[in-house]
Amino acid sequence: MSERAVRLTQAGGPDVMQVQTVEVGDPGPGEIRIRQKAAGLNFIDIYQRSGVYDIPMPSGLGLEGAGVVEAVGEGVTHLRVGDRVAYASQPIGAYATARVMPARCVVRLPDGLSFAQGAAMMLKGLTVQYLLRKTLPPGGLQAGDAIVFHAAAGGVGLIACQWAKALGLRLIATAGSDAKCELALAHGAAVAINYQRENFADRVKEITGGEGVKVVYDSVGASTFEGSLACLRPFGLMVSFGNASGKVPPVPITALATKGLYLTRPSIFHHLSSREATQAMADDLFQVVSSGQVKISVEQRYALEDVQRAHREMESRSTTGAGVLMLD
Ligand code: NDP
Repeated sequence: MSERAVRLTQAGGPDVMQVQTVEVGDPGPGEIRIRQKAAGLNFIDIYQRSGVYDIPMPSGLGLEGAGVVEAVGEGVTHLRVGDRVAYASQPIGAYATARVMPARCVVRLPDGLSFAQGAAMMLKGLTVQYLLRKTLPPGGLQAGDAIVFHAAAGGVGLIACQWAKALGLRLIATAGSDAKCELALAHGAAVAINYQRENFADRVKEITGGEGVKVVYDSVGASTFEGSLACLRPFGLMVSFGNASGKVPPVPITALATKGLYLTRPSIFHHLSSREATQAMADDLFQVVSSGQVKISVEQRYALEDVQRAHREMESRSTTGAGVLMLD
């Protein structure tokens, strides 16, 4: 079967991504073939395309998608031909009109959700799931606790604003413009700081009456790391889960000493280690979405052929919320 897919032979700028005709075969044992309807655009795709994260070349791109099961390999029992499905998973290769992949990474998409929503919510929503539900300071988080969440108007960020509110947390958002701050507030953030204009660590101290917060969720990396540590109260948890502004330089352990801080650098893929774990996290996500507590809106839609523009817009910080490639 001839299909269209984004391929790259080397790391580099957006122009290394080319849409090519590829052959997609039948699924082997434990695999399925998906007729893809939409693929999620994620900042991790930029790290992989640009060489911030090394990937074997030549390669496809994309880790999130939604579509219809078209063929099922031997031994697959939880999915059938015709099922509407979604996933957030390796192997790389979601920017494609069809693909074969391990069935254990794939879950059924609830009926009320469109393919675009499915492709917009899995990697980002499951990330928020493991961050707010499992990546917690000693003693956990209680309703009323303040947390800092950087880049809160982005794809992961807008889901985090809503989910934190549903959990009763006071999410202090940071974002790169006043308009983005407004968006974070409209999605449930308690306070929003434009960190291009203001020193966010000073503002967080002010907002918390000098106490600081129990957790900072930091996906911005190099430009925010130090300020994030300053936002924490004694025994607080620093969650460094991305590097949109560049990799965090090596951190001396003594940087944690003044307040007895905890530091973790998690990845979603450790959490999606089995079919059961993936399904349990997805069920939690689908529950907050079906209850209306978290709304999944798709802010940017592109054709597969516009993938270079999609990456340029994401990298230049001109996007908000989630973006998808529409594959029909
Ligand atoms: P976003 O839509 O949030 O886009 C990234 C945002 O980072 C930008 O919109 C921008 O928001 C902010 N940013 C700050 N500094 C820069 C900079 N110098 N260049 C570009 N952007 C900058 O992306 P995603 O929702 O896809 O992902 C959010 C983050 O979460 C990413 O860092 C990603 O790698 C990470 N992530 C980590 C996972 C994990 O398990 N470890 C899993 C999934 C995502 P603003 O203008 O408001 O500053």
